[in-house]
Amino acid sequence: MRTQVGIVGAGPAGLLLAHLLHRRGIDTVVLERQSREHVERRIRAGVLEQGTVDLLTAVGLADRLRRERMIHRGLEVLFDGVGHRIPLAELTGRELTIYGQHELVKDLVAARLDTGRPLLFEAPAVGCADLDSSAPVVHFELDGAARLLECDLIAGCDGFHGVCRPAVPQSVLTEFHRDYPYAWLGILAEAPPSSEELIYAQHERGFALHSMRTPKITRLYLQVTPDEDIAAWPDERIWAELRTRLARHDPAWQLADGPVLDKAVTALRSVVTEPMQFGRLFLAGDSAHIVPATGAKGLNLAVADVAVLATAIEDWYATGSTQLLGAYSRTCLTRVWRVQHFSWWMTSMLHKAPDGDPFTARLQRAALRQLAGSEAAARAFAENYVGLPLTGGPNDSP
Ligand SMILES: Cc1cc2nc3c(=O)[nH]c(=O)nc-3n(C[C@H](O)[C@H](O)[C@H](O)COP(=O)(O)OP(=O)(O)OC[C@H]3O[C@@H](n4cnc5c(N)ncnc54)[C@H](O)[C@@H]3O)c2cc1C
Repeated sequence: MRTQVGIVGAGPAGLLLAHLLHRRGIDTVVLERQSREHVERRIRAGVLEQGTVDLLTAVGLADRLRRERMIHRGLEVLFDGVGHRIPLAELTGRELTIYGQHELVKDLVAARLDTGRPLLFEAPAVGCADLDSSAPVVHFELDGAARLLECDLIAGCDGFHGVCRPAVPQSVLTEFHRDYPYAWLGILAEAPPSSEELIYAQHERGFALHSMRTPKITRLYLQVTPDEDIAAWPDERIWAELRTRLARHDPAWQLADGPVLDKAVTALRSVVTEPMQFGRLFLAGDSAHIVPATGAKGLNLAVADVAVLATAIEDWYATGSTQLLGAYSRTCLTRVWRVQHFSWWMTSMLHKAPDGDPFTARLQRAALRQLAGSEAAARAFAENYVGLPLTGGPNDSP
């Protein structure tokens, strides 16, 4: 097979890139290791920045999203049994959209299939080669047979455990990473949200987050250890722990519960790979960087990467200039490191240190009090949480 841009991975990054390039008249083939059903049911993120929604709207991908989403104009930080609202929209003029990532993936898959261009499910890439030549290739499998995809460029949108990043010689890439001594046990529950907005709770037993996906479905998280055995968490134990960590002095507040639809433990980690390009391979989304989920940034960063990449690829085909493509990594990394810092800071402020260090606990309390009591601190938080505008010049440096 031959195409202009070979895209490995049909997550949000790969599918959106395919759509953006199709609109610009550039041909792509998308390879996805999993089945369509699998990618459309995978429960992950759900908080979309306004910049993400504006882009999806501009390229005709937001019709269902705009009908079915929930709009949030603030969030609550809960500590010592008292909630403190951060009025995000008032402070920044921007709002957040709540819409499940798997719903967005369904919309992106449907849009791709409408174009009639290839989106191959159960077609795992097994490697990329000739990346520093003008004719890079992706080796993949389809119906048990080995196949070859010849391209002008390859977009590695295959997530953290994909094959594109490992195809780059080790001497070229530097990986910066931080593992955290805790993880999240996340559930999706058939229960109405107990609050109109997200609640980030810092508690002496550990962090908890009350989030939602629709007016009937809640998404809730508990801080657990990275090696937590999910079998040790029957539903009743999860609800009891959530009730404890989300409790507040106001006795009127109750946590609504219901059947648990999905349950998983996800590690929290920060990873950045530099550069995000080698020869004609461009890494985007989770294949290049991971943020701890606390700041709800992973999906939004993936969208920001492919917005930059699509513009650079279009410019390269139109003019032959490598200026924007050459600046791709630098442009994206500016945003990636800002978001890494925010996500690390939020994670550090809200999670209980495993050793229960009292010094750390008092620093966290000081940070939370400042966030709750200072408009300047709340504004800085809000600007980061609602997200930077979806732009980034090639002259920005990380
Ligand atoms: C398990 C998990 C849970 C998460 N939960 C949350 C959350 O609760 N809240 C939050 O804010 N963020 C969450 N995130 C982060 C957010 O969902 C990601 O940042 C986002 O999915 C990034 O999109 P992406 O397209 O870059 O990568 P992905 O969505 O990971 O897509 C990569 C795609 O590549 C495919 N692929 C991999 N290898 C190959 C191969 N060899 N050949 C072909 N295809 C391949 C994968 O099957 C996948 O479809 C979670 C991430 C993960 C991994």
